[in-house]
Amino acid sequence: MTLPITFEDVRSAALRLADTAHRTPVLTSRTANARTGADLFFKCENLQRIGAFKFRGAYNALSRFSPEQRRRGVIAYSSGNHAQAIALSAQLLDMPAVIVMPEDAPAMKLAATRGYGAEVVLYDRYTESREEIGLRIASERGLTLVPPYDHADVMAGQGTCALELIEDVGALDVLVVCVGGGGLISGCATAAKHLLPGCMVVGVEPEAGNDVQRSLREGHIVHIPVPRTIADGAQTQHAGQLTFPVMQALVDDVVTVRDDQLVETMRFFAERMKLVVEPTGCLAAAAALDGALPVAGRRVGVIVSGGNIDMVRFAALVAGS
Ligand SMILES: *Cc1c(COP(=O)(O)O)cnc(C)c1O
Repeated sequence: MTLPITFEDVRSAALRLADTAHRTPVLTSRTANARTGADLFFKCENLQRIGAFKFRGAYNALSRFSPEQRRRGVIAYSSGNHAQAIALSAQLLDMPAVIVMPEDAPAMKLAATRGYGAEVVLYDRYTESREEIGLRIASERGLTLVPPYDHADVMAGQGTCALELIEDVGALDVLVVCVGGGGLISGCATAAKHLLPGCMVVGVEPEAGNDVQRSLREGHIVHIPVPRTIADGAQTQHAGQLTFPVMQALVDDVVTVRDDQLVETMRFFAERMKLVVEPTGCLAAAAALDGALPVAGRRVGVIVSGGNIDMVRFAALVAGS
């Protein structure tokens, strides 16, 4: 079966991103290695532009617009990191951007999105559908909709994260990646399995939102209600039509972690590595550090996906209140 993206797509994305995205650092921790008996390599996408890997996919997708698409602009609906990734990418590529966000989104996120020059359209998430609003505005104004994960250029862009990690550290036995809708892991698995065919690729979901784990076991896309978890970037209700077949072909396993393990991992990153990591960004590391995944004796790549969290909330979570 031909998959929606290939390694060549990831490599081309890396060229498009070379002058624009940060080549984020890969950090190690003696404490983490001693605790797990593994060699862990943390790819720090919390230090990426906009504070998450989503910049990679968004910028790659927008770079591929035709001149006509560029002139008219892009539309996205998101209250999270994808919104800021699209807004910044559009600003850098000098195209108009409309972001559809819930009217009760955190003021900080609204301000950040507007700060990148995007037009924010608010909707009431209890009575209105963002898909309908997005599609209506897109057709009225001729805008191109870019979804957060189910898009080949977005998936290929996210894969550059694993490409860089492997270029920097060499062979890995395991690559651990958080999973929401599966955009990040499909791109990363495409890069990893091409460069290191023997490398296991393991996804990590919040225990309350294990739709991809179930989907892979059942062989079809399982839909779930909005999961209750602090990992807001992984509160997706189902995998994508494009991401699912890539995960079926290239992901070896999916494990889950609980919210209290995410909080423990946030503390670990802050105390030991001086890193601010959002709850969703801790999924992969929590699985490696907390025993959900056997890693002893192995070289393990861990994607730290993002660091966007309000400091008041960060403080409350790490203080355990
Ligand atoms: C979007 C996001 C995820 C999930 O990525 P998918 O491509 O939807 O699987 C994980 N972590 C962070 C920080 C995110 O913003």
